[in-house]
Amino acid sequence: MLNYQADPELLRNKVILVTGASDGIGKEAAWTYARHGALLVLLGRSQNKLDRLAAMIQHETGVSPVVYALDFLTASPQEYHQLAEQLSSTFHRLDGLLLNAGILGTLGPIEQADPAEWQQVQQVNVTSTLLLIQALLPLLRRSPAAAILFTSSGVGRRGRANWGAYAVSKFATEGLMQVLADELATTHIRVNAINPGATRTAMRAKARPDEDPGCLPTPAALMPVYLYLMGNDGRSVHGQSVDAQPPRNG
Ligand code: NAP
Repeated sequence: MLNYQADPELLRNKVILVTGASDGIGKEAAWTYARHGALLVLLGRSQNKLDRLAAMIQHETGVSPVVYALDFLTASPQEYHQLAEQLSSTFHRLDGLLLNAGILGTLGPIEQADPAEWQQVQQVNVTSTLLLIQALLPLLRRSPAAAILFTSSGVGRRGRANWGAYAVSKFATEGLMQVLADELATTHIRVNAINPGATRTAMRAKARPDEDPGCLPTPAALMPVYLYLMGNDGRSVHGQSVDAQPPRNG
């Protein structure tokens, strides 16, 4: 899967929504899916950044993505349903959902964790994915073959000191993925999680300011796994948590 080479037409005419599409891994995934023929819905909190990305995608592919700004920290369940209604009238169905948006919060020991920030991290990293899935499942059910991809982390599989709210949110993400995968086991909707691994983005720079970003893979290096699990070649994979890069030395 790590060396997967996707057919350039892999995602032709598939409707794919990417959250956190304005930056980092989500931005790269949106570009990559668009280059493989997908019709993109770019979701994030920064209208300006999403508009800029949409213009670049339109320029390169000739196809204009739909841009939808929503702040996962403050959006109500009703706002998620309004998004679903708009997509239903534009596309009628959804073939792919990449749940990628996330925040790190403040790293530090559990003893010192700020309860208000703890809830914010869970809201953006976990509860928003529940609300999106609840709103969008009817659209995903209309697809002949749909894929939901959660975004996990190494600290969501094995706890690590000082990663507090973020690590716990990623454990919850793994749990939500497994429960949903079991519930949808007999449907045509497959559900998996991707662990990107340490990647050269703003979030990683915030988490590890001591690290040389030049030593880390770029988001582009992860895309074989993002393509494989989103496209029909990955249709036999369900309920799995998959690494997007090989284990690092040391
Ligand atoms: P990033 O560069 O910081 O990008 C995060 C994205 O999430 C941005 O598009 C951001 O929007 C969006 N976002 C943040 N808060 C939001 C909110 N309240 N409402 C809506 N959107 C919001 O992070 P990244 O490194 O690409 O991370 C992407 C995913 O991979 C995350 O789930 C992260 O936990 C996971 N991950 C990353 C690494 C790594 O090393 N980079 C490792 C393991 C897992 P703005 O542009 O408006 O800020």
